[in-house]
Amino acid sequence: MVDKFADIQVLRYEVKGFDELSLKQKTLLYYLSQAALEGRDIIFDQNGRYNIAIRRTLEAIYTQYKGDKTSADWQELVVYLKRVWFSNGIHHHYGEEKFLPGFSQSFFAEAFKSIHVSALPLQKGQTPEQLLNELMPVIFDPSVLPKKVNQAQGDDLLLTSANNYYDGVTQAEAEAFYAKKSRPDDPCPVSFGLNSRLVKENGQLKELVWKIGGLYSPAIEKIVYWLEKAVSVAENERQKAVINKLIDYYRTGDLQKFDEYAVLWVGDVDSQVDFVNGFTETYGDALGLKGSWESVVNFKHPEASKRTEIISANAQWFEDHSPVNPQFKKEQVKGVSAKVITVSMLGGDCYPATPIGINLPNSDWIRKEYGSKSVTIENITEAYDRSSQGNGFAEEFYWSEEERELIRRYGFRTDNLHTDLHECLGHGSGKLLPGVSSEALKAYGATIEEARADLFGLYYMADPKMLELGLLSDADAYKSAYYKFMCNGLMTQLTRIEPGKQIEEAHMRNRALIARWAADRGKADNVVEIRQQNGKSFVVVNRYDRLRELFGKLLAEIQRIKSEGDFDAARQLVERYAVRVDAALHAEVLERYKNLDIAPYKGFVNPVYTLVTDKKGNISDIRPDYTEDYTAQMLRYSKEHSWL
Ligand code: ZN
Repeated sequence: MVDKFADIQVLRYEVKGFDELSLKQKTLLYYLSQAALEGRDIIFDQNGRYNIAIRRTLEAIYTQYKGDKTSADWQELVVYLKRVWFSNGIHHHYGEEKFLPGFSQSFFAEAFKSIHVSALPLQKGQTPEQLLNELMPVIFDPSVLPKKVNQAQGDDLLLTSANNYYDGVTQAEAEAFYAKKSRPDDPCPVSFGLNSRLVKENGQLKELVWKIGGLYSPAIEKIVYWLEKAVSVAENERQKAVINKLIDYYRTGDLQKFDEYAVLWVGDVDSQVDFVNGFTETYGDALGLKGSWESVVNFKHPEASKRTEIISANAQWFEDHSPVNPQFKKEQVKGVSAKVITVSMLGGDCYPATPIGINLPNSDWIRKEYGSKSVTIENITEAYDRSSQGNGFAEEFYWSEEERELIRRYGFRTDNLHTDLHECLGHGSGKLLPGVSSEALKAYGATIEEARADLFGLYYMADPKMLELGLLSDADAYKSAYYKFMCNGLMTQLTRIEPGKQIEEAHMRNRALIARWAADRGKADNVVEIRQQNGKSFVVVNRYDRLRELFGKLLAEIQRIKSEGDFDAARQLVERYAVRVDAALHAEVLERYKNLDIAPYKGFVNPVYTLVTDKKGNISDIRPDYTEDYTAQMLRYSKEHSWL
């Protein structure tokens, strides 16, 4: 473990196989890695307009404060700064709520005033007092900007969200603005709104586009600088075209070019080195339109990819045999390419907290016409697995030695397989009926989509086809995934929720939805129950076969909702099963978890790549180093890769 604070553990991942790559590939990875780091300020600013100023102010205090560093206030300031770094802002990276500092306002004001004015992030004409007055309520007042993304039914989701995607624009105005742009008969609609902030100027709505010459230009210029270098060492012509198109898009902000880039990117399956770099996922926007900036630089793990190659080679079989109504299935599953990757650099919204699987592009028509690329990040799942061994979690929360043994034996394999199935088949499966918009489910869309992908994986995990294809070695292996999923969805994921709060994040909502729905529907047959022992609650799965049937049923219903764009059904399912928290169970789980002294959230520091040069100054080798600690890395990034 690299660091531990608040509810977070920082781990390190290892870039296995890097040394075996060619010098050209290493150089390519290096340039892409630099590009991955240059956009860090973008995600801070997207997450909230005061985030960069707060980070810089805290860093100035952290590096210059001469007062008592043994005081509780100082230690709390360090924790708060580490949390701001981790969340790329002042809101929890997962729960979306603002976290409050443990130090006093008077301490902060005193520390602030003790810093030389040249170290403060003052806007033009701004005095230190003005800056302090501006930041105080944002940092300390719980009622100011309480949530990064608000999804509460009935609220104006834009005016009540603290993110920086809209300025002075109501939800109704934004919805009308984008509804006007899209034409239902357009077979290839661009992702409207993906790369801009929507603002009101003189009463008129206007998009400020993130591009060179537009918003975030200084950071995007740096990204492009490294991408241009990457072109010079690309592995092949196709990859060159991919990177050039991305550069073109960053220069113009033209969403048409972004789609052209996505099409080229999804077709690049021969290169070993690959990357994501751009405005990508839309979870951070209540309307699901604005893309948060992220980057993941990686290379293929050929041995482990045999597993995902088997899955994608059989994608049509899985689509044909799913329990979904035939009218919602894809007649022809196109180009699901799946691989297992080793990540070599994380950036933007994927750092320090990172996904374990990715499936892109997000554009529905591109997925339908050209397929998608799906990855499982195995050096990250390995790092998680290593950190969870022997931490006491299984002994505390799993019902008996039988479940623990199942998970010991099959857990790592089935976790990875579930990620493969989720990313490669789940997200890629099914189709929308003609005329149904991909935005029809609005704020419930992300939860429904994640549930769809998870259910696809869960359903097939128990299929005899898994043994036939050699993906699992034992007919009981799937039970480890089922048990873990139910235990997590019904109980243990509550460790990530603060007392009194509800479930907000889409993946967590999805897990609660599936597990609670299955428990509810299986009640009559006692498929799953929460049993008491020694005053503690345990999830017990009594009928694994019936549980699979229930997963199949829910998959069929969720696919119907998505395919038909049935907003009311989505809302009912999510509001009934996925949001609320049982206060007593929650308190119990938190108490038991606290005794284990493990943190519910994890993230990673990146390696540092050192260039080795020969006498002429040419790069002769690149070496990853794994010694930089969390604080040093964050301070260095703020110094070397901060452009906004
Ligand atoms: Zn997913």
